[in-house]
Amino acid sequence: MTKSEELFKRRKAVVADGVGIFTPATIVKAEGATFIDADGKKYIDFAGGIGVLNAGHCPPEVVKAVQEQAAELMHACFHIGTYEPYIELCEKLVAIFPHGNHTKVMLTNTGAESVENAVKIARQATGKGGIICFTDAFHGRSLMALSLTSKIDYKIGCGPFASEVYRIQYPNYYRYNDGLDEAAFVEREIARFKESLRNMAAPDNVAAVIIELVQGEGGFVVAPKKYVQALREICTQHNIVLIIDEVQSGFGRTGAWGAYLHYGITPDISTWAKSLGSGLPIGAVIGKAEVMDKAVAGTIGGTYLGNPVACAAAIATLKYMEKIDINAKGRHVGEIIRKRFIALQKSCPAVGDVRGLGGMMAMELVQENNSGKPDADLCKELMSACIEKGLLLVSAGTHKNIIRVLSPLVITDEELNSGLDIIEGELTRLLANRSTEKQTV
Ligand code: PMP
Repeated sequence: MTKSEELFKRRKAVVADGVGIFTPATIVKAEGATFIDADGKKYIDFAGGIGVLNAGHCPPEVVKAVQEQAAELMHACFHIGTYEPYIELCEKLVAIFPHGNHTKVMLTNTGAESVENAVKIARQATGKGGIICFTDAFHGRSLMALSLTSKIDYKIGCGPFASEVYRIQYPNYYRYNDGLDEAAFVEREIARFKESLRNMAAPDNVAAVIIELVQGEGGFVVAPKKYVQALREICTQHNIVLIIDEVQSGFGRTGAWGAYLHYGITPDISTWAKSLGSGLPIGAVIGKAEVMDKAVAGTIGGTYLGNPVACAAAIATLKYMEKIDINAKGRHVGEIIRKRFIALQKSCPAVGDVRGLGGMMAMELVQENNSGKPDADLCKELMSACIEKGLLLVSAGTHKNIIRVLSPLVITDEELNSGLDIIEGELTRLLANRSTEKQTV
């Protein structure tokens, strides 16, 4: 039995089955964009711990800051004792992400917690209850976050869900264009949204709209700019808080600090986590001070939120990201992937769509018969084949048919191209095998 097999055997015995296994990889040690498994095999990492490692595995500056902070103060609880790393991190986030004239922040541990708190703040700020969210959205696994999440696989047997959650179709041009050109499609989707405030939830009852501008788990679907700008106007008009969920799209992934910066809009509230702490659990809710301060003292917070060691990791991560220009890296990585995926699409009808923003790039795998039907089997086979070859890859999408790249953005061109070579080679091989099988049948 290999050491990896042994680990899985031990895992099976004591870890609850509900804690999903998305890949057969084991991990012992990691650096930059690569890691070593329990048997000493080296991998290129295209998963990045699901978008957490934009600054890479174990950046030395971050490791040092964590070690130093751990030796000074590991915990205080910010409600009980005020400490500087929490404040310094908030100052840094306010400087990078101004939300209007005066911006305030609360720190959290995770993306789901950021979403939960954003909703609580929006409700207190507006005195209203309803929340509008989107199909194929992912906002986390706690009760409100899961209620806002769309894909039913995450929700099996977990209800009843939070009430006053309304869901509208995400403006996914590839899936729902019905032959319209993009401009006409966007007009139709804006009209659909406006109509929903008549036939789904009255604006007087809607506290917030929450949207991912590039859907993460949904498969890197990019919301059209005009649609988002219209959403911004509608929210302002009706005193609805616009919450942009940047948990997966933040910190350089789209080639900017946040996806919203591509859209020429300012959210009322934005939610963050993942790459902020290079792996230490930390998230943030950032918002206009006049909205954030409507939450009554004591209604938001918790024992561990903004833990000093996690804050030190986040401050060091942000400084490191500034130093290496993480946004330029995001754009660079994205350009390479886009070119390679588009070339693959030209030769391969199973690649139905190539899309994304900056370094947040994905390809959608569909059946080769031009029906556009999702091909989840192909995606699964491709992931397994790539892992065999030393490339860790994760899928996405309600139909599990989308290959997304969430590699550290510090990946070298050589590592990135080697990973893309593996995807290309294995996809071509799998499709060739399929056509041989068909011929023999
Ligand atoms: N929002 C988005 C957009 C996400 O991608 C995720 C995680 N995939 C979450 C929220 C939840 O984050 P966490 O797993 O840290 O709770």
